[in-house]
Amino acid sequence: MNLIFLGPPGAGKGTTAVKISDFFQIPHISTGDLFRGHIKNQTELGRQVKSIMDQGELVPDEITIEMVRQRLREPDSTKGYILDGFPRTIHQAEALESFSRPTAVIDFELRDETIIRRLSGRRIAPSSGRVYHIDFNPPKVEGRCDVTGEELIQRPDDRPEAIQHRLKVYKKRTAPLIDFYRKKELLFPLNVEKPPSEVFEEVKKLVQNHSS
Ligand code: ADP
Ligand code: ADP
Repeated sequence: MNLIFLGPPGAGKGTTAVKISDFFQIPHISTGDLFRGHIKNQTELGRQVKSIMDQGELVPDEITIEMVRQRLREPDSTKGYILDGFPRTIHQAEALESFSRPTAVIDFELRDETIIRRLSGRRIAPSSGRVYHIDFNPPKVEGRCDVTGEELIQRPDDRPEAIQHRLKVYKKRTAPLIDFYRKKELLFPLNVEKPPSEVFEEVKKLVQNHSS
């Protein structure tokens, strides 16, 4: 069960991936989270990608592909994985074919105005990456993580200028993957303009039907 969650920023891929990962016991591999981990740990890679990410640009393919190739070598991904945020370009998708074959690609579909509402209200706990939303998934205590109590922050790339830019980048560089995977008969489009619990149930059903 090698899953790809495809869709624009803010579609709810990460939120859903956490639950699907828990349910099916397969790792959730988010390239955005991996890069943010490098930035937090001040690695050389983190230094290379920070300003690119803050501006809402894509990290160069070679760097990203190599990071994923290494991650998929780890033993936990032998029985499957959820790739969230990768591939994001045709070149990345072609490279992935050379070291791992996806079994299903779930395409998260939603309107631009919904994307903007989800991204502008997103808040994260910096140490764990836990994701909240000021209206749709608020923490119990305003501005604080439910689990650690740490102060929630807004990602630099969730500021309005960066959001607009990321949407453009998505349409130009990532949306062509929809056709790429449709032609391979791996694409499962899903309307995600519904509560997170319903999105989870639908993805779960889709995965169960597809892997039996
Ligand atoms: P979102 O969840 O909002 O879609 P991510 O956390 O997936 O955003 O990604 C944040 C940023 O990390 C991207 O805007 C980009 O700069 C970088 N990034 C993540 N995945 C990739 C990728 N596959 N290729 C290039 N850059 C990536
Ligand atoms: P992605 O990983 O695709 O960028 P996230 O999972 O981080 O998206 O979700 C973006 C924001 O939208 C978060 O603040 C999250 O709490 C919220 N969110 C996720 N799914 C839904 C949903 N089905 N309905 C409303 N808000 C949602």
